[in-house]
Amino acid sequence: MAEAAQADAPRRKQRPPPKMAAVETIEQITPHVVRVTFRGDELAEFGPPRPGGHVKLLFVPKGTTWDRFDPEQPRPTSRTYTPRFYDRETRRLGVEFVLHGDGLAANWVQSAKPGDQMYIGGPGGGYDVPADAANMIVVADDTAVPGAGMVIEAAPAGCAVTALCEVLDAKEERPLSPTVRLSPRWLHREKAQACAILEREAIALNAPADANWWIACEANAMRRIRTHLLKDRKVDPAKIHTRGYWRLGETNYPDHDYGND
Ligand SMILES: Cc1cc2nc3c(=O)[nH]c(=O)nc-3n(C[C@H](O)[C@H](O)[C@H](O)COP(=O)(O)OP(=O)(O)OC[C@H]3O[C@@H](n4cnc5c(N)ncnc54)[C@H](O)[C@@H]3O)c2cc1C
Repeated sequence: MAEAAQADAPRRKQRPPPKMAAVETIEQITPHVVRVTFRGDELAEFGPPRPGGHVKLLFVPKGTTWDRFDPEQPRPTSRTYTPRFYDRETRRLGVEFVLHGDGLAANWVQSAKPGDQMYIGGPGGGYDVPADAANMIVVADDTAVPGAGMVIEAAPAGCAVTALCEVLDAKEERPLSPTVRLSPRWLHREKAQACAILEREAIALNAPADANWWIACEANAMRRIRTHLLKDRKVDPAKIHTRGYWRLGETNYPDHDYGND
């Protein structure tokens, strides 16, 4: 609780209270990715999320209660996830969790069961693919595959999309989208440091000069790719959208690292 109270206290009063929903289904879609579908009538008032946007999942510790309407109560610890599927009609929201090791959210999902309650804040953030984009480069690690799927679905007709996606190994490959047929170039991390191969391949990519870039991955790798695009390739910053999704060794990474500091 202390971690969340500190991080969220200054902004707490400005936000609308999070929505309440319950776990409906849990699917293991690869050995290291679990898809949870949340359902709740309050989700009718949610969103819609923008491509690559996020939600905050708030984890109320077992055996405790939280009154979300009482601004004096500290907000529970939260983590940032992608609202990969949202259906207002059925009030459903789908989130894909990467099992990356020890972490509040990664642990929660492994013991989640239908009926478990979740408070969901947002949606926030996101990226609007320019309506005149002719070329789009998508660079994503496994945590950003859901966001990448949303971005390619939003690409305008005729836009050529190249996607680089780093995952642990071939068993982690999964369709980016149920509606858009696009085969990303899958990069297998195996025993390499997270995002090292993604960074190398993004930097080596032979991309059209007018390409728009959407890059989301580990924050240090994201920064190095961003610096390369700006300094070495002289890409117009307006054509680069970068986001640090997590950082090696850092717990509860903030949701607003766009790499432009
Ligand atoms: C906009 C946005 C959207 C996101 N969408 C998704 C999504 O759809 N699915 C998803 O799985 N994640 C997503 N993330 C990333 C997710 O928020 C982080 O991975 C988060 O740290 C997970 O929380 P946790 O409680 O499991 O781990 P934490 O308690 O935050 O971290 C514990 C330890 O695990 C490490 N760690 C965290 N993530 C990883 C990782 N992927 N690989 C290796 N080590 C890691 C940390 O560095 C830390 O040392 C998103 C992040 C952002 C900013």
